[in-house]
Amino acid sequence: MSALYGTYARSDLAFERGEGMRLYDQHGRDYLDFHSGVAVNALGHGDPHLVSALKAAADKVWHTANTFTIPEQERLGQRLVDATFADSVFFTNSGAEALECAIKTARHYFWAKGEPDRYEIIAFTGSFHGRTLGTIAAGGNPDYLEGFGPAVPGFKHAQPGDLDSVKALVTPQTCAILIEPVQGEGGVTAMSAEFMQGLRALCDEHGMLLILDEVQCGFGRTGRFFAYEWSGITPDIVAVAKAIGGGFPLGACLARGDVAASMVPGTHGSTYGGNPLATAIGNAVLDRILAPGFLDQVNAMGRKLTWHLQQLAQKYPDHVLELRGKGLLSGIKIATPVRDMVARLREDHGLLAMSAGDNVLRLLPPLIVSEADIEEAMGKIAAAFDAIEAETAANGAAS
Ligand SMILES: *Cc1c(COP(=O)(O)O)cnc(C)c1O
Repeated sequence: MSALYGTYARSDLAFERGEGMRLYDQHGRDYLDFHSGVAVNALGHGDPHLVSALKAAADKVWHTANTFTIPEQERLGQRLVDATFADSVFFTNSGAEALECAIKTARHYFWAKGEPDRYEIIAFTGSFHGRTLGTIAAGGNPDYLEGFGPAVPGFKHAQPGDLDSVKALVTPQTCAILIEPVQGEGGVTAMSAEFMQGLRALCDEHGMLLILDEVQCGFGRTGRFFAYEWSGITPDIVAVAKAIGGGFPLGACLARGDVAASMVPGTHGSTYGGNPLATAIGNAVLDRILAPGFLDQVNAMGRKLTWHLQQLAQKYPDHVLELRGKGLLSGIKIATPVRDMVARLREDHGLLAMSAGDNVLRLLPPLIVSEADIEEAMGKIAAAFDAIEAETAANGAAS
């Protein structure tokens, strides 16, 4: 019996070592990683630049409170501001905390403008924003809310892709729209550019803020720094995490300057958020992701993955029901139970992949993936489909 909470359906597999795209278990068996610890290991495993940044940071001050100046945090904040729409950054330890900061910033902005009743946020069905009380209310998934008392008020849910369903929920109390440009957990659903533009226009029309959750789809995963860039819009607040620390716990809330202006001393805080160790590593991750040509290469690999998935869909029409996602956040809606498929790929074919909602097999390799890695992964998925067919045929013959 494990001493840990039973909150995860864990496999017995434990990894001892990682190198680039590969992980090695306690028996020395190697696995091709198309999971990335849920989009976290953006630079794969054991990246020399990240390892040396961590070692160098370990010899310096690990932690100071946020009441002191933290030079690595100042530097990371400034670099994020220089690289994006934002003017102001708040650092957190996780995605859910980045979303909490985004929600509080939006509500506080209207409170400070003398509109305290304007606190409602329109979010979307099928979304995922984290596991705090606030973010399970924002996500609205009844399975995650059940049993935890009354949901935090102030969230309504529209249908992703359906602008009329959003318009129908707008009231004088609405302060913001909150959306993942590519829904991860919910089923790897990419929003269209038209829909994102429609949301931006609706926000402009009603003076509402547009909050994007780029915790999973951001930081290069779709081939642009942020996934929203494909739609040409500008958001007001963006929450990031996962890839930003490359495996070290780190998140951030990015905002336009006037939107964050009311977040003065006393309004928000975090003991660890953006501490010297975390932000030293965040800076090292950014060195790699913003290096000339890095995102072009990610974009090229995203296109290759899409092309190879289309080939797979043509060859296995009975197994591949739909292709989803964008770039290196791709999904295959499959015909057989996805949890069985994830276990089969791991145990029989040495491929780490993930499930997502709506019976989707989620593929999210480190951003350093090569075409040879993609071809290898496709071969493993094809072998799994072949094995399922052979088993089905054998069962049919036996009965
Ligand atoms: C993972 C995730 C979160 C929550 O991040 P945590 O670090 O687990 O708190 C929020 N939003 C999206 C889109 C995510 O994928």
